Amino acid sequence: YTPGGTKVREEKILVTVRVRPLSPREQAMYDLIAWECPDEHTIIFKSPNDERPSSSFTFDRVFGPTSVTSKVYEEGAKNVALSALTGINATIFAYGQTSSGKTYTMRGITEHVIEDIFEHMKNSPQRDFSLKFSALEIYNETVVDLLNSSCGQLRLLDDPEKGTIVEKLSEEFVRDSQHLQHLIGICEAQRQVGETALNDKSSRSHQILRLTIESHHKENSGRVKSFIASLNLVDLAGSERASQTKADGIRFKEGSHINRSLLTLMQVIRKLSSGKRAGHIPYRESKLTRILQSSLGGNARTAIICALSPALSHVEQSRNTLLFATSAK
Ligand code: ADP
Ligand code: MG
Repeated sequence: YTPGGTKVREEKILVTVRVRPLSPREQAMYDLIAWECPDEHTIIFKSPNDERPSSSFTFDRVFGPTSVTSKVYEEGAKNVALSALTGINATIFAYGQTSSGKTYTMRGITEHVIEDIFEHMKNSPQRDFSLKFSALEIYNETVVDLLNSSCGQLRLLDDPEKGTIVEKLSEEFVRDSQHLQHLIGICEAQRQVGETALNDKSSRSHQILRLTIESHHKENSGRVKSFIASLNLVDLAGSERASQTKADGIRFKEGSHINRSLLTLMQVIRKLSSGKRAGHIPYRESKLTRILQSSLGGNARTAIICALSPALSHVEQSRNTLLFATSAK
């Protein structure tokens, strides 16, 4: 409760971990599995050369290498995502090093989200829904429209009512789920165009798919009840871009190996989850956190799915991911 007595949502961030299977390439190189998931909440580092488990981490939910995306969605994203139907902004992040399974997981999550949202709308004929879609990519602190890349670099503006808005970002009214899938297809293709032009780009860029859901419902009293909220589905840059810095305090060095948006996001999430929401939260220090500000903290719900390679060769990065995940819960 604030001093004035109004209730403030102090919702925890839902933090889950998903370990992918050993890839065919890792198998071919005789890489070994270094992590075990003995139960649904625990992940343990177990050196293949040493029987003693050396470190253990616990989370809301840990999904082992055999788990399917529908399960990850059900338990790691669904409730957060669907809160956008009731006027609460929601963000689902995939965090992890390059090749850990972020894009794989977010694609699956997105499919399930679409299915559930349209199902919900169909089952709520008394509500009048409208759905808008937009998508953007942040690369080197440059924001690009994934639905219409011809407009080049987009500026962020501060709107006194709406907060930070992305100037000239295209927004499409969504007719049905096929239409939405078509729009997402355009974004995927656009992301790939950039990929061939600039090697390694997807590991350094953040992608945000945003659904804005508005609904109106006439109550028996005649009063119209309205909801509006955004659901953000975020595929983050590879977390190896953040590993050169210490857990506290951001040091932006020169050079492209440091990703300002990723580091600031990590800082914001640590602050939010440490319960110091009243203190200064550095939303304004990066494009990603400015764009997501109204969907992080406050009247918003957040889920982070931390993707992990099981391979012994990636233990250092996996450990960094789990340390961040621990600081977020
Ligand atoms: P990232 O986006 O983190 O760089 P990707 O999502 O592209 O990683 O995944 C890297 C590779 O691993 C891809 O070939 C992907 O299909 C595969 N992969 C990732 N997660 C899984 C999983 N849970 N099950 C099977 N294959 C996976
Ligand atoms: Mg990816």
